[in-house]
Formats: sequence, C-alpha cells, structure tokens
Amino acid sequence: MSLLEKELSVSKPLTGQIALVTGGSRGIGAEIAKELAVQGATVIINYVSNIEKAQQVVDEISAFNPNVYATQADVSNTEDVIRLYEEIAENYGKIDILVNNAGITRDSRFMKMTDEQWHEVISTNMNSLFYLTKAALPKMIEQNYGRIVNISSIIGQSGGFGQTNYSTAKAGMIGFTKSLALETARHNVTVNCVCPGYTYTDMVAAVPEKVQEKIIAKIPAGRFGKASEVAKAVRFLVVDGEYITGQCLNVNGGMYM
Ligand code: NDP
Repeated sequence: MSLLEKELSVSKPLTGQIALVTGGSRGIGAEIAKELAVQGATVIINYVSNIEKAQQVVDEISAFNPNVYATQADVSNTEDVIRLYEEIAENYGKIDILVNNAGITRDSRFMKMTDEQWHEVISTNMNSLFYLTKAALPKMIEQNYGRIVNISSIIGQSGGFGQTNYSTAKAGMIGFTKSLALETARHNVTVNCVCPGYTYTDMVAAVPEKVQEKIIAKIPAGRFGKASEVAKAVRFLVVDGEYITGQCLNVNGGMYM
C-alpha cells in the first residue's frame, strides 16, 4: 500500500471495522455492503444460495476495497449461524457492525396460509435476528462498541394484505430493536431499525405489474424507493448515529409517517 493509499484508508470512518451483512448478495443488502465498504469497513457478505450474485458484489467492491468476502449460511438455521461465526472468529475475531437484512416473503391470505409459509418467514426474518445478534453481542459489549441495524419494513408498521406472516416478523424486529437497545446503550452498542417502504429489488419485481401500479399510486413520492436509498440510511446510523438507538428510520417516500 502506498503512503497516499494508507492516508486515504485511515481517513475513512469505518476502517478497521468488520461488518456482516446478511442477505448481501442482492437488492438492499448488496447496496448496504457497498456503502459500508466505501466507508472503509471490511465487509462479509452472507447469502443463502446465490453464489454468483454474491461473487458479483464481491467483485464490485474489490475494485475499491479489497477487504470483502462472501460466505454461505442459512440464517434461519442456528447451526449455520454458529458455523458462520466460527468462520468469522477464526478470520477476524469480532464483528463491529451487524446488519440483519436477509428476508423473504411467502404471501398468502391468512385463511390459506400454510404452516410452512408461516414458519419459513418467521424463521428467516425474525428468528435469525436472535441467532445472529446473540453471537455478535458479547464481543461488542467487551469492546464497548457495536452497531446493529435491523432491516424491518413498512409492512411491520402498517400491516400488509396477505402478509400476516411477514408483518408479524417485521413488527417483531421493531420490538426486538427497542428492547435490546435498552440493554446495550450503556455499552455503546446501538440497535436500530431501518424500515424501507416499497423498494425496487427482486422482491418487488416479483409482484404482478398491475399490483405494482396500484402500490405506486399510494406512494406520496410517486415511485418505488431504490436499494441505494435504504443503504444510505444504514450508513448514517452506523457512521453518525452514536447517540441514536432504539429507533426506526423510515425510508418510504412518505408512505407511512
Ligand atoms: P431480495 O429478495 O432482493 O434479496 C434477499 C436477500 O436475502 C438475498 O441476498 C438472499 O440470498 C438473502 N436470503 C434470503 N433467505 C436467506 C436465508 N435463509 N439466509 C441467508 N440469506 C437469505 O430482498 P430485498 O433486497 O428486497 O430485501 C432485503 C430486506 O429488506 C429484507 O429483509 C426485506 O424484508 C426488507 N424489505 C424489503 C422491501 C422491498 O420493497 N424490497 C421493503 C421493506 C423491507 P440469496 O441471493 O442467496 O437468495
């Protein structure tokens, strides 16, 4: 590394910090990973099955920050999460920034919702929060520093037709955030939520076009959000949010206030 490169890297606020972004292979998670890498963090990108997409994100980030790698783990599975943390402990010894972003939808009207649809969404979107945070927190407390950002959703705040499972999980994330924030504030570990509104990713692309048009008609900003706009909110909480904890930062074009 040249002297100039050294100087530049030292001046970045997250240099030397280790960030884990779950579901970082696509959509919002990929943009969060990039945003944190721009700030100098070493970024670990977790994915469940999409190794090509994860590698693409790694390649993009490597162009400006070599400290990035991708690792597979199903965050709904406690054994996978334990393995993921063993890997991280071996390579880095700690996590400074945890972004619980991985999430899925399995929409169905409640009367038709299967046990599988219910449990898959609760496990992936909510139980994962418990597994991942529990493993990251002891070191954060020990080092008197940590930033946890949970990607909830407008649907956890306002409800969503055909989304009782998803809405329950996302509302649960908000309760988790507020309660844990109370326990960790004195250790300089902040815990916050970002609640995106409808953001154009694979998740929204899967919604039928006619439904998409109806949704846009209800968004005061008149358009879907961009994944990069959610990522900026995460960056703000991580980099400049030292006295912000237990909050939900809404990034929704005015759809829910
Ligand atoms: P995408 O569907 O575009 O991407 C989902 C990501 O989660 C992928 O990286 C996927 O990995 C990963 N993932 C899914 N299941 C697991 C699992 N079991 N273990 C590990 N990783 C997993 O989603 P978005 O980017 O749209 O959403 C990201 C987050 O934001 C989610 O929590 C979502 O609920 C939330 N959100 C999204 C909104 C939107 O409008 N898009 C609105 C509000 C909230 P892989 O690529 O390997 O499949």
